[in-house]
Amino acid sequence: MSCRIISKDSAVACRVCGRQITGEAWERLILRERLEPKEVQRILLGWSDRFCVEVRYCGECGTQIAVMVAVQES
Ligand SMILES: [Zn+2]
Repeated sequence: MSCRIISKDSAVACRVCGRQITGEAWERLILRERLEPKEVQRILLGWSDRFCVEVRYCGECGTQIAVMVAVQES
């Protein structure tokens, strides 16, 4: 599974239907799973503290899409 970075200013394309999903639209898709940086680091050494991985369903065809999402500064 490949991961791309998504942010407010970027978009990813669904690999099945080609739908372009912007950062804002991404947040409205149904969340399947969210891995915090610590969880990813258990699998991938050297993973950044600044990114988590989210898997959501494409709003068009339902394919699971994984992207890196910048951790929100609170
Ligand atoms: Zn799709």
